[in-house]
Amino acid sequence: MARIRLDCVRKTFRERRRGEVAAVAGVSLEVAEGEYLAVLGPSGSGKTTLLRLIAGLDRPSAGRVFIDDRDCTEEPPEAREVGLVFQGGALFPHLDVFENLALPLRLRRTPRAELERRVDEMSAWLGLDRLQRRRPGELSGGERQRVALGRALIRHPSVLLLDEPLAALDGPMRRQLRRDLLGLHRQLRLTVIHVTHDQGEAFGLGQRLAVLREGELQQVGPPRELYERPANVFVARFLGNMPMNLIPGRLCLEEGSTVFAAGDGGPGTLSLRLPEEIARRLGGPGRGAVTLGARPEDLELAEAVETTTLPGVRAEVEEWEETAGGEVWVHLRLGVHRLVARVGSGLDLKAGDGMLVRLPLGRVHWFDGETGKTLRGQALGGTTR
Ligand code: ADP
Ligand code: MG
Repeated sequence: MARIRLDCVRKTFRERRRGEVAAVAGVSLEVAEGEYLAVLGPSGSGKTTLLRLIAGLDRPSAGRVFIDDRDCTEEPPEAREVGLVFQGGALFPHLDVFENLALPLRLRRTPRAELERRVDEMSAWLGLDRLQRRRPGELSGGERQRVALGRALIRHPSVLLLDEPLAALDGPMRRQLRRDLLGLHRQLRLTVIHVTHDQGEAFGLGQRLAVLREGELQQVGPPRELYERPANVFVARFLGNMPMNLIPGRLCLEEGSTVFAAGDGGPGTLSLRLPEEIARRLGGPGRGAVTLGARPEDLELAEAVETTTLPGVRAEVEEWEETAGGEVWVHLRLGVHRLVARVGSGLDLKAGDGMLVRLPLGRVHWFDGETGKTLRGQALGGTTR
């Protein structure tokens, strides 16, 4: 097992059209011994570059890379005990499974007897023993990916870096390989960094999750924590089956109370009177621009005729979609705003129908309207800046 530490790591490329591009723009990150870290980010956010920097295939433009407190920034890949599974597996098509697995050992001039023993051991372990003489073209996607894993593990690294290892696989194979990865991590006590653009994968595998955007780390923490307390609007929108509803607006003073007024406060915009405690936490009417965030599952929908003592606002059903799991996503128009709410099946929906939407204020997220950063930290501290 090994610990990894990145200290302000940066990697820039010179591109003909865009000029200097920071693929990784100053990332500091620690991965504990034996941890399974998932790195989630959209395509082009710097995930592959980050792994290449840790593996030593790229040299950072600035910053340092540490493995177990050893500064290995200048070390070549062979000197680091790191196994990398490339995006797409990157097997040699003209070599059979045996030779693909044996390659890292051949490059290190491992004696023949030991090489054969290790390849046999790894093939058996990954269920590839009867496929040793096949070439990658004669394997299923899942088998190919297991060969790529075997090649990364054959030198018994203490760190395993995975670049979108499940991306090319279909449903059942994905699930199988996912279980295999969890098993590998447990049995070999590896430190794993798994990058992906798929949040299902990241949530299912990562003990912690790091969200990357345009080369910058947005937030790192247990998946649940990121989902429940996103650090900014990017993380808030990026995580979840359906993005969080966001309504930009400002805090104003109306008849002695703090009110959240959406948009420019014109006709058809949402206006919410805030309880004293929340108003104070947000910094009161002086704060200016804020953005209200509400997860679709936190909106409560009721038929508008229902008599209720809870405050609600009227919205109109535009359309809805039902998932295989029996969830229904209802798209609503609330004045000039559009919102999505998640409801169980069983609600009688008709396009154009009026519904009552409730926003439980305790579950609402608040973000600074300028920076997009959460106002929670401030809320917890109880101070204003
Ligand atoms: P991801 O794996 O998240 O899709 P990458 O790390 O591959 O992202 O790329 C991040 C950014 O860096 C992209 O804008 C990409 O075009 C750029 N980039 C990556 N590698 C190179 C390279 N060798 N030369 C020039 N630009 C690169
Ligand atoms: Mg990539």
